[in-house]
Amino acid sequence: MKSFVKMFVVLAVLLLTANVRAQMPQQLSDPAVRVGKLPNGLTYYIRHNEYPKGQADFHIAQKVGAVQENEDQNGLAHFLEHMCFNGTKNFPDKLILTWLESKGVKFGMNLNAHTGTDETVYDIMNVPVQKKEVVDSCLLILHDWADALTLADEEIEKERGVIHEEWRMGNGAVSRILNRHAAELYPGTKYATHDVIGSMDIIDNFKPQVLRDYYEKWYRPDLQGIIVVGDVDVDAVEAKIKELFSPIKMPENPAKFEYQVLGDNEEPIVISDKDKEMPANVLFVAQKYDFLPREFRNTDIGILMEYIDFIINQVLNERLTAIQLSPDAPFSACDAAMSNFLYANTKGALLFQAVVGDKGSEAALRAVLTELKRMQKFGFTAGEYERARNEYVSALEKQYNNFKTSKNDYFTQIYINNFIESNPITAVDYEYNTMKDQFAMLPVDQINAYIKEQFVPGKNLVVMSLCPDKEGVAVPTVDQLKQVIAEVDSAEVEAYADNQVTEPLMEKTPKAGKIKKETKNDALGYTQLTLSNGAKVVLKKTTFKEDEIRLYAVSKGGASVYDANDYSNAVFSCDMIGSTGLGKFSYTDLQKILSGKQASVSMDVSAYDESVSGRSSVKDLETMMQLMYLSFTQPREDKAAFENIKKMMISQVENASHSPQYVFQDSLVTNLYGHHPKAVIQSKEAFEKVDYDRAIQIYKERFANAADFTFFIVGNFDENQIRQYVKQYIASLPANKNFEKAVNDGREIVAGNVRKQFVNNNEGKLAMLAMVWNMDMPLTMKNKLIVSITGQLMSNELLNSVREDEGAAYSPYSVGYIDRTYKDNATIQTSFGLNPDKYKTSETATIKSLEKLSKDIPVAELKKMQEYMLKSYDENIVENGYWLGVLESYVVDGEDMYTGYKKAVEELTVGDIENFVDKLIKSENRFEILMLPE
Ligand SMILES: [Zn+2]
Repeated sequence: MKSFVKMFVVLAVLLLTANVRAQMPQQLSDPAVRVGKLPNGLTYYIRHNEYPKGQADFHIAQKVGAVQENEDQNGLAHFLEHMCFNGTKNFPDKLILTWLESKGVKFGMNLNAHTGTDETVYDIMNVPVQKKEVVDSCLLILHDWADALTLADEEIEKERGVIHEEWRMGNGAVSRILNRHAAELYPGTKYATHDVIGSMDIIDNFKPQVLRDYYEKWYRPDLQGIIVVGDVDVDAVEAKIKELFSPIKMPENPAKFEYQVLGDNEEPIVISDKDKEMPANVLFVAQKYDFLPREFRNTDIGILMEYIDFIINQVLNERLTAIQLSPDAPFSACDAAMSNFLYANTKGALLFQAVVGDKGSEAALRAVLTELKRMQKFGFTAGEYERARNEYVSALEKQYNNFKTSKNDYFTQIYINNFIESNPITAVDYEYNTMKDQFAMLPVDQINAYIKEQFVPGKNLVVMSLCPDKEGVAVPTVDQLKQVIAEVDSAEVEAYADNQVTEPLMEKTPKAGKIKKETKNDALGYTQLTLSNGAKVVLKKTTFKEDEIRLYAVSKGGASVYDANDYSNAVFSCDMIGSTGLGKFSYTDLQKILSGKQASVSMDVSAYDESVSGRSSVKDLETMMQLMYLSFTQPREDKAAFENIKKMMISQVENASHSPQYVFQDSLVTNLYGHHPKAVIQSKEAFEKVDYDRAIQIYKERFANAADFTFFIVGNFDENQIRQYVKQYIASLPANKNFEKAVNDGREIVAGNVRKQFVNNNEGKLAMLAMVWNMDMPLTMKNKLIVSITGQLMSNELLNSVREDEGAAYSPYSVGYIDRTYKDNATIQTSFGLNPDKYKTSETATIKSLEKLSKDIPVAELKKMQEYMLKSYDENIVENGYWLGVLESYVVDGEDMYTGYKKAVEELTVGDIENFVDKLIKSENRFEILMLPE
């Protein structure tokens, strides 16, 4: 608290400068949300919101998590979260799941929960609430979670295996190292001993009463918040909350609720460790600081802090990116963020995370500490601040313009954060005006003064080096790292020299072409233009969002028109080329030019096509069109920058390749396609094959002919203006007569029943299993529905058998889709990590799960999926991104995936699914791959 007094003075000066009342700041509020507290202490937030129409989100947030556990409860806060789906008073057994799924609310997707060190939050989202009973039942579920869990012995027994598998999936190298050093990182707090997933000894052996004790002690009204946002009647919801939750009693002698206070450290905390499976050579540097005390967070100071955090993030990351892209960079990636200090939500940190380059950890540390010191000493330059502020204001404007179509979860997150962390809740106009007209007007000197106060050099520094344990990686000693800290401490740093870029993105615009033909399609509501250079443009004006325009352009061909030797040059080089800049501008200069603009474009070459994706605000549409034009015509030819990025990507992927998940994915892809030379994932070998000259040549070939592309522009554009831009920036693109198709390059899933098994010795004793069934099947709306629903039904079967009955895996799942390459192919695929002792039963259960779907599917099961698809459709049809997909299918592939969709969903029968699954099984194309730890 003491250090805050000084901070408060600085912040008060900032507020004064920004013309905001500087006396004891007022608590903020928003009249659009109904906030209340019941006599028993329970808090609620209710807001009416109509996006998406007819749906609502329901949450219960608890201010308790792992740090409330006793020693014999280590891991039980999280265990309890799982038990909330295994039976309550009004929803016995699995009724919460089955009832919600019958309304189209999907487990995992719309129904979820998470446990942290200091919070536990349950989510029921995207619930269709046209019927009042549905609202009441969702509130009843929240009620049961709050106070009426069954916690039956046999359900607890069954859940032990599931949690154990969740631990296995999450117990990677990083968490192993963090756990080894928890006592150094969080001295004197429970963060040192309670990491949420907990002790497996306790998970496997605890007595059920120990879990019930935690529930009784900590799930109580004064620590609970109910949040409801959506297309609901606020008065009715409030009345129901009062009725349901008022009878819940506070415990007689409630246990004292306390936050874990993590102290300062005068001397740097320095840690160095290694692990064979570290996916990268990583360096963490944290400069800890005190968060604003809770009582000030929901005030003008709170929103001012949000602005300052944004500015610090923005400017620091601009500096770090410039270093990262320089030749001889000491790290291959580095970002900085104002955030929690790792697990501890009671302490803030400016947290740097660097991927160490080939110069080693000490060089990376030196670079990071130097930037930290530079910022502490000199703050930011006026030019840097100006760009960051423009970026802030333009993002703020876009958000404000689109406010009407903010989704339910935008609000629920604010209310959950307000309840748990006391973060601000403000009326949208107040926040917008205060931020834009007052805080964003603060001069750079004030920001710099704040930085000086907030980050005291030498104090509160934490350095952690996490190295892969392998040949060629030098693991620094703690003393070596301390030596670097001392060196930087005594070294001189200079103020940052910012080279400003004042030139425009395009000096002169290209010679405009013409629109030769316009046709309208009323069914899908679009206009198609044919341009003088042969390019086709599809325009669909929408007002789903006030301030959003999306672009997509696609042309067939991709890597399929090249032989296997060129596969890397075609598909893995686009990112490298994109990161070298554009036209005459380097990547960092380009970012400077684009600061304050909401416009982006990215290019992609994939196996069977090449494409362009872009998005912008209404105001920055022309910038997006210019970026697109330049990406087609003037990729930046900078061999040195390209090689630098290639080297960076190689070192990143090389380290990642030691994780068991990577090894499995690699084996899955290569074996699934019978070792076809084009069936490769991102790897050191694949990246090393990239040749600069050839990659640039292929990129140019792929984007040489605009006439072979169809462009789709969807969003809130002006009809006249968009035609001007289309003529100016698309009709002017070069074109030729080379029209291409996706070519059969022989990359096919292996035929027949194939089973592979291999060994990967990993620390966590993780096994992984994937099964893939496939057959040729034309991509039509109906087929697409059948295959997708089969995947979803299969997921449910796996959850019931592999997870709930066997306790063999934490998240077994399956997907179904039809792939369009040079032909159409239906695939059902499962892939999950599992307990190696239970691989045989998992294999059998997976095969049986699909077989079950070939006969006697209960109609109710299909109905659940139909409800979900219908609900998702209602959400999708008001999204610009959805329309890009519909228009592409229709215009490029001739498949109408929109007209009659709901009818097609409703008319699906269990017979349709059973027939498909029967054929799929009889086609005898089942691929299986199993990885065992020993
Ligand atoms: Zn869990």
